[in-house]
Amino acid sequence: MTRIAFIGLGNMGGGMAANQARAGHEVVAFDLSAAALERAVAAGCRAAGSVIEAVAEAEVVITMLPAGPHVRDVYGAQILGHAPTTALLIDCSTIDVESARAVALLARSAGYRFADAPVSGGTAAAEAGTLAFMVGCDEADFADIESALVPMSRVTIRAGDHGAGQAAKICNNMVLGITMIGVCEAFALAEKLGLEADRFFDIASRSSGQCWSLSNYSPWPGQVPTAPSNRNYEGGFATAMMLKDLKLAQEAAAKSGAATPMGAQAEGLYALFDQLGGRGQDFSAILKMFRGELAP
Ligand code: NAD
Repeated sequence: MTRIAFIGLGNMGGGMAANQARAGHEVVAFDLSAAALERAVAAGCRAAGSVIEAVAEAEVVITMLPAGPHVRDVYGAQILGHAPTTALLIDCSTIDVESARAVALLARSAGYRFADAPVSGGTAAAEAGTLAFMVGCDEADFADIESALVPMSRVTIRAGDHGAGQAAKICNNMVLGITMIGVCEAFALAEKLGLEADRFFDIASRSSGQCWSLSNYSPWPGQVPTAPSNRNYEGGFATAMMLKDLKLAQEAAAKSGAATPMGAQAEGLYALFDQLGGRGQDFSAILKMFRGELAP
């Protein structure tokens, strides 16, 4: 049994902390939201009154927070210097690469082992304990990090040094956003050309148009039973989250001087879909925009 401090018990962190408790670990949890904290207690965690109290005797600290500023603030003011320096610090939030590297530097200078370990998989995977973790850390720390993540993970891959986990996450999601738009455009064109959607799916899935967005997550209802398109685009990966990740990719591209024109287009199109009411729907619902179902 490991004593784990879990900070950030929202849509993702709630299920993740519950899986750590279910695996028999002592999970001391904290969230600014009293309701989130109550749910964690009902799932077997112990409530702390603050981040500082939660991490005081932790062997592992896991954070699942909204964005870079939250992570910088929580580590800078409430974890570093308050958790024992023997504690393994793992940030699973999706944040900008620069913040991840800055927090890693601070943590390591204070004598801690730190990893950025963002996840692929939404709330269903968080609840099921089947997330994919992409990790940026010192090579020597990876085995301990991988083992700490086991109750929450399907797979854990080391992407490289600090910040590489976040880099992998935003590059992967940029591919996902771009390919989903391509698939949706193709369905919309096929429809205009009188090509039946299921025929197109059958053909493209077995031709060079095959990709995850089409074959595993088709935006057209009735083709992939597990896809959110069959649940009125509820659940899955929200458009707001896709937009956040595409913005992070564009910020990183601007800072590093990478040319990502398709990523920029994808960000613009998801921003438009967000404004047209897509925010809370799964990102594959952008199909509606290409089929002309939403008036700009
Ligand atoms: P969320 O907003 O539901 O949860 C974040 C939680 O952090 C909230 O409960 C909030 O009260 C808490 N919090 C904020 N500041 C805090 C502080 N200073 N101290 C303690 N608690 C604090 O968000 P989420 O959907 O759980 O996402 C968390 C992270 O996971 C984000 O970085 C997101 O991009 C990433 N992510 C989300 C999904 C998804 O499908 N929701 C998928 C992959 C990755």
